[in-house]
Amino acid sequence: VVYLDYNATAPMRPEALEATVSAMQTVGNASSMHHLGRDAATRVDHARRQVADLLNCSPGELIFTSGATEANNLALHAAYARGGYLMTSAVEHPAVLEAARSLTAEQPDALVVLPVDSDGALDLELLSFTLAERDVALVSIMLANNETGVLVDLRPVVEAAHAAGALVHTDATQYVGRLPLDLSELDVDLLSLSAHKFGGPQGVGALFVRRGAALPYRPILVGGGHERGWRAGTLNVAGIVGLGAAAEAAGKRLEHEAVRIGELRDRLEGLLLAKVDDCHINGRRLARLPGVTSVTFPGVPADAVLVAMPHVAASDGSACSSGAPSPSHVLLAMGRSREDADSTIRLSLGYATTEQDIERAAEAVVAGVQHVRTVLAATHA
Ligand code: PMP
Repeated sequence: VVYLDYNATAPMRPEALEATVSAMQTVGNASSMHHLGRDAATRVDHARRQVADLLNCSPGELIFTSGATEANNLALHAAYARGGYLMTSAVEHPAVLEAARSLTAEQPDALVVLPVDSDGALDLELLSFTLAERDVALVSIMLANNETGVLVDLRPVVEAAHAAGALVHTDATQYVGRLPLDLSELDVDLLSLSAHKFGGPQGVGALFVRRGAALPYRPILVGGGHERGWRAGTLNVAGIVGLGAAAEAAGKRLEHEAVRIGELRDRLEGLLLAKVDDCHINGRRLARLPGVTSVTFPGVPADAVLVAMPHVAASDGSACSSGAPSPSHVLLAMGRSREDADSTIRLSLGYATTEQDIERAAEAVVAGVQHVRTVLAATHA
């Protein structure tokens, strides 16, 4: 099988797998006072340092969570307690959009969802206008879109938000471990990440909270007061150790991998554009993550194409929340029709993708689309 679904989840990096398994073979609650507990706490401290090094922040600014969904919920939950509006964008992951909708359920006017244009770019003017007009508690804008890979230059967003007294959160789940990020330069207040997108285990992530950010203390999970009270629950030592190891491994090869993966993605897109009539790539005019392509084959249902190429693991538009077939809210927000959204495939590459994978996948997609077109033509005849 050619695995091209890294944006859904990446295979574990060997370093992360080894570190996770070895941590699982030890006993110790990181809160226990005896030496086994202290050993576990030492492993957690080391992992916190590894993640902090990847982001260039301080280890004390990280709260370990069960993943980016929880980190996003925690960020929005705490920030909303400041009072004021929440502002986000129409192409955010459901872990931001649904969290924002649920927090403002009693007061739907307190949520502002910014539109994007047909490339997926944010309306910065509307952002500034809203910041000037309303008392905004938090602006939450992702760094990289999970479906299209479109990147957001957050600097003007941060500048405008801070000038208006709002905090800034970014869902960096698809960005961390794939492109260099320096939190001493990018002045966001809050950032979410998830280990399984860059080679760590599933079910573990972190929320960065900048020291001194005006964030009310408002945990979602209360109990034993772990993570300085921000997230109660026995620490997932093995998961956290795996997250740390993945962060270190990804950090060492970040720039090299980004270039290599970007070249493979461009090759894949070149092959598809050359060999399939009538297909287009979403967000192509903007800067994108190196490892993802979102391709629409108008009139060709994506689920049928996926079934026609069982040896390629890819997704239709909205695999992150999939299970229930609904058209991608990201593509709809970019002005695509429901039919086009349902005719879109996402192929996402990562650190272990090879040139041969790309050749095989391109061949399979071309044949799959051709097959579905032939079947459709026969049934319509
Ligand atoms: N945000 C984005 C942009 C994502 O792509 C994902 C994963 N699909 C999440 C949040 C949720 O991450 P997790 O699986 O760690 O809860």
